[in-house]
Amino acid sequence: MKIPYLSFNYQHSLMKSELKDACDSIIESGWFIMGEALKKFEQEYAQLSNTSDAVGVANGLDALIISLKTLGIKEGDEIIVPSNTYIASWLAVSAVGAIPIPVEPNIKTYNLDVDRIEEKISSRTKAIMPVHLYGLPCEMDRIMEIAKKHNLFVVEDNAQAHLATYNGKITGSFGNLNATSFYPGKNLGALGDAGAITGNDTELIEKVRILRNYGSEKKYYNMVKGVNSRLDEMQAAILSVKLNYIAQLTNERKVIARKYDKELSDIEGLTLPIINDGATHVYHIYLVRTPKRDELMKHLINLGVYPFIHYPLPPHLQEAYAEFGYKKGDFPIAEEIADTCLSIPLYPGLTDAETTYVVESIKSFFE
Ligand SMILES: *Cc1c(COP(=O)(O)O)cnc(C)c1O
Repeated sequence: MKIPYLSFNYQHSLMKSELKDACDSIIESGWFIMGEALKKFEQEYAQLSNTSDAVGVANGLDALIISLKTLGIKEGDEIIVPSNTYIASWLAVSAVGAIPIPVEPNIKTYNLDVDRIEEKISSRTKAIMPVHLYGLPCEMDRIMEIAKKHNLFVVEDNAQAHLATYNGKITGSFGNLNATSFYPGKNLGALGDAGAITGNDTELIEKVRILRNYGSEKKYYNMVKGVNSRLDEMQAAILSVKLNYIAQLTNERKVIARKYDKELSDIEGLTLPIINDGATHVYHIYLVRTPKRDELMKHLINLGVYPFIHYPLPPHLQEAYAEFGYKKGDFPIAEEIADTCLSIPLYPGLTDAETTYVVESIKSFFE
């Protein structure tokens, strides 16, 4: 059996004719940028996110950068970020000239260790950027409390957690502005690059709308130095189709995760994902950990099961961040996760027989 890390075959088979119709309708309309399809998707995504507004942008990294810019984050400001996140969270901070201040994750949830945030807050700190990594929400209640106490903005990085909730509230609805990505492989994915910003502060949202479109509200009249980061009509129409399936597809992810949880739970030396109190997990990534990660990975590939590593090198050890002079050992928890983590295949359409094969393949390694 051959099991890829990710396959779109099943989810696209559910909606192929609708996707084609959506593309056809955009071609027929003759309007490709900033039109009705975008307006429609923005309304639908705001509703899904339980926010007053959603603004489509070109990708998730831009969504983060534009959020920070809109909040006035600038040169020399400090932003609290996880030490173990995908590089985009850090790059967004750098892009506006601010400094990412890493905070170690909780080794069980892989999300920001809330008890370590306050010791990193200085007079220059302007915002906290919680990342709901792998599809599990951060402890947002406590993070919002800390932000309030220290007068900080919160920008959620919700790229991996569409439809996840914390204490009944959906991720992407807590912060002042929140960024998400619709990169094809995300739980809600376009057929190309796309992203969005969500929020409830209409004044901020208005600024976002202007910034993403050349700093212009009225064509050829520029109020600020904006960027070109628009979500095009084709991707918006595609996302509107996919939005109708996201609840079903998320449930299918959870069913597969439950099976992995059950079948893999008694393997000694293998750590499974947990769900912290108050959270729901949407399993963008089903991440296991073992000190024998490299050997397990080789074993699985030999059997035709293709895992992935999210992520092999934490941001502080990336060449791109050599300027900060961080070295191995500076963020040991992030490093431990990077050295021991393995993401096993989990996507809607993974059949029961395939899930069983993944389980048996993992078991045969530990036997
Ligand atoms: C994917 C991702 C992003 C960036 O999204 P793009 O659309 O690829 O720019 C940002 N943060 C996290 C946590 C992500 O997983």
